[in-house]
Amino acid sequence: MSECIFCKIINKEIPSQVIFEDEHVLAFKDINPVAPVHLLVIPKKHRESLNDIDVADEALLGHILVVAKKLAQESGIADSGYRVVNNCGDDGGQVVKHLHFHVIGGQPLGVKIC
Ligand code: AMP
Ligand code: ZN
Repeated sequence: MSECIFCKIINKEIPSQVIFEDEHVLAFKDINPVAPVHLLVIPKKHRESLNDIDVADEALLGHILVVAKKLAQESGIADSGYRVVNNCGDDGGQVVKHLHFHVIGGQPLGVKIC
């Protein structure tokens, strides 16, 4: 996926502020934060969206959530609360077509739609 901006971040072809990395996932600061803490957790395997996930990816998805929780704790927002958000597809507001989970917190997050 040579044109995918998040694959380029994974491959260190473009810079990012990496917070955590292991064999399966990368977490980095969102370039346009909407709250004091705004991280993105992404799989190193390119998957366009949640629509591209199948049963073989179950462990990967679970790992992403465990990493999200760990980073929330390390960022000091676990006790006050936070959101983990996945936008899927156009109606879901997904702009970058590489599966990613936002971890957002550090202030009251306002409007809930669900
Ligand atoms: P989404 O709207 O769910 O597709 O979210 C994409 C997110 O990626 C947005 O919050 C952007 O601010 C963020 N983003 C886009 N490019 C970069 C980048 N180069 N480094 C960090 N975050 C980025
Ligand atoms: Zn990608």
